[in-house]
Amino acid sequence: MTIDAIVIDSVGKTFDSAGVTALEDIELSIAAGEFVALIGPSGCGKSTLLRIIADLEKPSSGSVTVFGKSPRQARLDQDYGIAFQQAGLLDWRTVRANIELPLELHDVAKAERKARSTHLLELVGLSDFADRFPTELSGGMQQRVAIARALARTPALLLMDEPFGALDEMTRERMQKDLLRIVEETSAAVVFVTHSIPEAVYLSDRVVVMSARPGRVANILEMDTDSGDGADRRESRAFFESVTAVRESLYGRMPG
Ligand code: ADP
Ligand code: MG
Repeated sequence: MTIDAIVIDSVGKTFDSAGVTALEDIELSIAAGEFVALIGPSGCGKSTLLRIIADLEKPSSGSVTVFGKSPRQARLDQDYGIAFQQAGLLDWRTVRANIELPLELHDVAKAERKARSTHLLELVGLSDFADRFPTELSGGMQQRVAIARALARTPALLLMDEPFGALDEMTRERMQKDLLRIVEETSAAVVFVTHSIPEAVYLSDRVVVMSARPGRVANILEMDTDSGDGADRRESRAFFESVTAVRESLYGRMPG
């Protein structure tokens, strides 16, 4: 039996200062290597839940483990990579130096850092841009650098909060496809927050639908991941059926 990537047990979160209950009684386990999307109305606590997993926020009640450890320990061990909506790159470092940053912080030797960043640059299709600076790249390319950086230490878990939210539709679809290939190659589990139903359906093994404040798990839907990939999958009947199922779970059944 392999250990779960994340176990969330009766987690609640209240922001006392604002008098806001953001999360209530969240129960959710994410298996090693599993891709789970979180979707729900704005303000339902998706980012808060991700921040609790990443030890950037403490739960008010309940508990979370990451690979069987406390979130704090998992953070110290750098068990996960994080990519949020803003790429958050350091403008004064080259693309390669941005990708190598987590390795530098972990005292990885220079030659090994270089070999690793070379591989990651290839993985995200940016080999020709290693020596450029972030401001010289498009938004999609910057986001790919952020993903490469998140993968630098080969984390078994990726936490992603609307990472493609700022991208145009074509770039976004290409990034989704790349992400699936990358997580397949690295066997990483992913928790992926998104507003987009098709994005959630395309990427995920399971889609977790959350309800409006206080955020709760309203529904968990299993996706059909066997219907090919790329454009084929997006145009399959199973894909449309899943999109409809998620939409109805979010908004209730549409009339007519
Ligand atoms: P989502 O990501 O689903 O849009 P968030 O997790 O960002 O939602 O926020 C959930 C709720 O908690 C919102 O009502 C938000 O205003 C509130 N909230 C989030 N962070 C804080 C904070 N640091 N202090 C007070 N309220 C917060
Ligand atoms: Mg959010």
